[in-house]
Amino acid sequence: MNITNQILIDGKFLDAADGDTAPVINPVDESTITEIAVGGKAEVNAAVAAAKTAFVSEAWGNMSGWDRGKCLNRLADLIEKDAETIARLEALEIGRPYVEPFNVDVPSAIATLRTYAGYADKIEGRQVPGPDHFGRPITAIVERRPIGVAAIILPWNAPTMIACWKLGPALASGCTVVVKPAMEAPLAVLHLGKLILEAGIPAGVVNIVPGRGSVVGDLMATHKDINKVSFTGSPRVGARIATLCAPLFKKLTLELGGKGPQIICADADLDAAIPGVAMNIFANQGEICAAGSRIFVHRSMEEEVVKRMAAEADSRKLGNQFDEATSMGALVSKAQFDSVLRYIKTGVSEGARIATGGERYGDIGYFVKPTVLAGVRNDMTVAKEEIFGPVAALIAYDTLEEAIALANDTDYALSANVWTRDFSTAHRLAKAIDAGTVWVNGGGTPDPRTAWGGDRQSGIGKELGWAGIESYTKERVLNFLY
Ligand code: NAD
Repeated sequence: MNITNQILIDGKFLDAADGDTAPVINPVDESTITEIAVGGKAEVNAAVAAAKTAFVSEAWGNMSGWDRGKCLNRLADLIEKDAETIARLEALEIGRPYVEPFNVDVPSAIATLRTYAGYADKIEGRQVPGPDHFGRPITAIVERRPIGVAAIILPWNAPTMIACWKLGPALASGCTVVVKPAMEAPLAVLHLGKLILEAGIPAGVVNIVPGRGSVVGDLMATHKDINKVSFTGSPRVGARIATLCAPLFKKLTLELGGKGPQIICADADLDAAIPGVAMNIFANQGEICAAGSRIFVHRSMEEEVVKRMAAEADSRKLGNQFDEATSMGALVSKAQFDSVLRYIKTGVSEGARIATGGERYGDIGYFVKPTVLAGVRNDMTVAKEEIFGPVAALIAYDTLEEAIALANDTDYALSANVWTRDFSTAHRLAKAIDAGTVWVNGGGTPDPRTAWGGDRQSGIGKELGWAGIESYTKERVLNFLY
């Protein structure tokens, strides 16, 4: 497989000026996949300068929305053609089973780009006929303009999909961008860079600078020529980015963590629900912001659900990301592996019971067995903090009022799942739970036409849908007096 491991600036792939490199590790066997070039101040400055020039250039600045849409559709075509390579790169660097990015993330990336190709020529303004202005007729034209150069900071858990969630609206709007992939998972995103050039998107419109968060991320947040920062990652780093952006009043979108509730109602069809509940916490090794990690189960069926969830966990086959039999991979890094095991230990010390899992799998690679914790209370650490691993915390409740109160008693508000056969219970819970997205009797990736995002520790602002366009554009008012 051809691996791109250099920095993309102004249409060229380059090494770092100071020769800095870092290894990308395969989490499944701890081997080094490749060494990537690591950007620093020189690369950030060059990338921002290229993006700034491209923003006002004839080639991009004057390109019609219609033509920007064609670029996005060509990029989607190229991703479709290269789907296997992209999914392989993502599986390799994250350690997740190949079938997941191939069947979920890459199709979501393609759908997102096609959705925004459709929006690109429909970013319209409006005309507001005013009352007289001191005796003179006035008409205001409200137009929507691209915001300028945007910094895109990515997490490692779903890089292809999340990169396209941000590139789609940014490019449709006419912005130019500097992308910083996470150090753990830069390869699929760098490959996208190649396809972006092949799609005829002019040099400098998309620049990709892998780099250490505290260096490149900070430089981007404080660079005076970056007008907007779109960050997906942890609340801790999100808060830091917000603080850095504040003195410069940069536009900001923060897509942060989650601690999603899944409420299993007393009337739920367990045969249908349990595989879905398990998928919502064990897919991508639980390294998903929307993971349904707090599972509220009606006390009448607690024992049964613990048993069935343990069986679901035990049915996962951990192994190499490219083995067809593998249904769960390794955690992305040693740090993540240590952190998840630490959380499980804390859970037990606070009174939770391990129904299954709770330990390392094998002796090489960052595998943690899918874990079911029973007897959890909502005030335990494992129910309060985002673990970002394959750990399901089961919490019993007696009444729906109690379930709603417990579901909402959290610092996060990103996503939630409800499992019930009753139509009015479904509506009641969906309305009462405070989350950006609520799924009833299912789960999955967001439709790119609908907004995604949460509140509080889950972030600020939305991406996807028309909200995505709004987040990369600004309104201007032109007043005409006659
Ligand atoms: P992270 O916050 O550690 O890193 C995210 C990005 O920020 C990386 O590119 C990293 O290099 C960079 N970074 C790290 N330190 C930085 C600093 N001091 N200054 C600037 N940039 C810095 O998050 P992660 O571990 O990559 O991802 C996991 C987190 O992302 C979880 O909390 C998860 O819920 C969240 N997430 C949210 C969504 C969403 O849509 N809401 C989607 C995926 C992941």
